[in-house]
Amino acid sequence: MDRAFGLTDCIRLEVGEPNFPTPQHVIEAADEAARSGKTRYTENPGIPELRSRIAEIFTEDTGRKTEVGDVVVTTGAMAALYTTLMSIADPGDEVIVMSPSWPNYLMQMTLLGIRPVTVSTNETNGHVPTIEQLESAVSVRTKAVLLNSPCNPTGAVINQTQMARIIDFARRADIYVISDEVYDKIVYEGTHVSAASYDSDGRVVCIHSFSKTYSMTGWRVGYAVAPPEIATLIRKCQEPTVSCVNAPAQYAALAALNGPQEIIGEMRDAYRERRDEVNRLLSSSGISALNPAGAFYIWVDISSSQRSDVDFAMDLVDKHQVTVVPGSTFGPSNEDRVRISLATTPDQLYEGIRRLIEESRS
Ligand code: PLP
Repeated sequence: MDRAFGLTDCIRLEVGEPNFPTPQHVIEAADEAARSGKTRYTENPGIPELRSRIAEIFTEDTGRKTEVGDVVVTTGAMAALYTTLMSIADPGDEVIVMSPSWPNYLMQMTLLGIRPVTVSTNETNGHVPTIEQLESAVSVRTKAVLLNSPCNPTGAVINQTQMARIIDFARRADIYVISDEVYDKIVYEGTHVSAASYDSDGRVVCIHSFSKTYSMTGWRVGYAVAPPEIATLIRKCQEPTVSCVNAPAQYAALAALNGPQEIIGEMRDAYRERRDEVNRLLSSSGISALNPAGAFYIWVDISSSQRSDVDFAMDLVDKHQVTVVPGSTFGPSNEDRVRISLATTPDQLYEGIRRLIEESRS
């Protein structure tokens, strides 16, 4: 990214944020909130109207009866993840995390002194961890397993049977499940299954965000839905770190939930069209890539380029002004992959892919 910033006309395929504007009614709700004096600290876990609407929607979506007290509105999903990890694990404790997975998980654990125990997902297990893998990763220090479905970067979506088995495993191991579901509305094949739907004894914390669903990355609003004792801890951890989420942004988030929902399907359909075209371009050039069932990334196999992921990514930016993310950013054993994002304009995206194909042949 640093190298790309110095270039003009760089095609940015590394950025994980929707290229759609935030809906107008959401912007207007923030404007109205600020103008009418909603510019002070709010309740620490979020404004009651927003929490109660989230609880209502979460109950409908997952079937898990959710109370306002189970919801904590956070500064993006990032803060929800951080305070959840802080609440569940002490320094020296272990959390099971997949490789590849979103790099911030490992960075957050490093900051908190938590030991990540990595489980590899690949073509053999369909990029979903098997119960045998999870069982062999558990120790007396394990506090949680961290899931992400749909997954960044693979796009894998955990199905009902797999989710039921994973939650059953967590129950037997007596650990928490932290389920990052920020891409829950971006599913192309199958349906999103929430970990909360299988939570019979209060061990699942779901992490959600307005960033991807409503194209609101810069507003920084997300939330955790947790068993009451964990929600209380998350809330307490939030107080000394950020106090509460930006007040007008919370009113904007409420407007997003209460307003028209068509934008969600429109964005998903646009990503689907781009996904299909990118896969067509790559496969007709003999480059293999995962066909993601959800999220908006393509996990590309660059082994034919005979270079490491970092060398390939640097060559691509230096010679073709295209940025992608090296696979090793997502954890060990991913040096033969790069991740590209579908969340850019189709023209830029397809031109970027053409240049990537050219570079992989050089
Ligand atoms: N979780 C995953 C898997 C992500 O890919 C991202 C952002 O890219 C986030 C969480 C962060 O979301 P937010 O913008 O709500 O902090």
